[in-house]
This record gives sequence, C-alpha cells and structure tokens, in this order.
Amino acid sequence: MLDQIRLLVKLQAIDKVLFQVVQEQEAMPAKLGALSLEEDRLTQALAVAQGEFEDVRARRKNLESDMEAIRARVRKAETRLMATKTQREFRAATAEIEEGRDALKGNDDVLLELMERQESLEKQVNKLSEQLAQASAEVAGQRQELTNRAQELSTMIADMTRERTVLASQVEQSLISEYDFIRKARQGVALSAVRNGTCGVCHIDITPQQFNELQRLDKIMSCPSCKRLIYWADAEALADL
Ligand SMILES: [Zn+2]
Repeated sequence: MLDQIRLLVKLQAIDKVLFQVVQEQEAMPAKLGALSLEEDRLTQALAVAQGEFEDVRARRKNLESDMEAIRARVRKAETRLMATKTQREFRAATAEIEEGRDALKGNDDVLLELMERQESLEKQVNKLSEQLAQASAEVAGQRQELTNRAQELSTMIADMTRERTVLASQVEQSLISEYDFIRKARQGVALSAVRNGTCGVCHIDITPQQFNELQRLDKIMSCPSCKRLIYWADAEALADL
C-alpha cells in the first residue's frame, strides 16, 4: 500500500499545479476579450461615422450636380430672354429664371447644412481613427503577453498531463478511479496529508482510532469531513515526499 500512497502523493503534487494552470488557461479567452473591448467599441463607432460621412458626401455630390443643371437651365433662359420677340416668350423665360433661382436658393441652405455635416463627420472620423490606433497600440503589448502566456500554459499542461498519465497508470484501477472522481469534484485536490491527527486540507481532527488505523499504512482511508483520501504524512517513508 505504501507504494500506492507514494504514487498518489506524487500525482497530487502535479494535479494541484495542473488544476491552477488549466484554470488560468480557461480564463484566457475572457481576458483577451476584455482587452479588445475598447478597440471593438471604437471600431464600431468609426464604421458608423465613416458610413454617415460617405452618405453625406454622396448627397452633397448629387445636390451639387442638380444645382449645376439648374444653373445651366437658368443661363439658357437668360440667353433666351435677350432674344424674346413676344410677350409670351418673355414671360416664359422670366418664369423659368425665377423658378430656377428660387430652387437654387432653397438648395443653398441644404448644401450648406451638408457641408457642415460633412466637415464635422470628417473630424469625427479622424478623431476616432486616432483613438483606435492609440487603443490598439496600448493593448498590443498586453495581448502579446497573454498570447505568450497561453502558449506557455499549453506546453505546461501537455507536459504535466503526460507525467500524470505515467504515474496514474501505476496506481490500482479502483484507487485511481476514486482519486480522479474526488479530484474533479474538489478543485483538483483529492489527497490530504494528515499530521498530528489533523486533515491537512479541511483541518478537521480525525478520531484517535482512525488515526491509529491510518498509521498502520495498510489501507487508503477517507477524511470524515472533506471525504478526500488521507494518508499519514509523518510516516518516515512518506514524510519527505
Ligand atoms: Zn479533510
């Protein structure tokens, strides 16, 4: 039984670290996601501002070409006006000129509004671009650090998993099953060293009779409180493990 306990002690030492390493690895995507929050927000805001900017620019361009067409019609009407021979032609040309000028006047206000809007959107786009570049630069280092750490963790997990597989294969089937069952339910810690009659994990005192049994080192027992597998840590053969 002693060799089995020794194996479990070695296994537990690995599993304790492995549990923490796996937890750290599982927290990575959330950490990386949190790092990108500001970047994501700025990227979205920039896309919206750019979309609006393009929209306003297109509307302005359309309006300017409409106005150019109106001006051309007015110029034509003005030329016609010079050459009118009848009252009817004069009235028609005058009406067209007035109508054109009214339209131009109305459009002028809209054009001014669009120009102002375009200018303010351009400023907004530039500002957001700068902010985004800054935010990206700020998190680039942290992102690289996290990525490196994730790589490191993967290697550690692979190494420890290999190591524990070798150890676990040497433990009796029913014992390793029980150990693994408790380990998964108890934050990676399935084995507890008992010193002076006290469970090293939950710190409950086991009864003197249980402690006597434990000191015989001839079977694996469970802590009456935390239900972890326990062993007598002060046994000479185990004390140094
Ligand atoms: Zn306990």
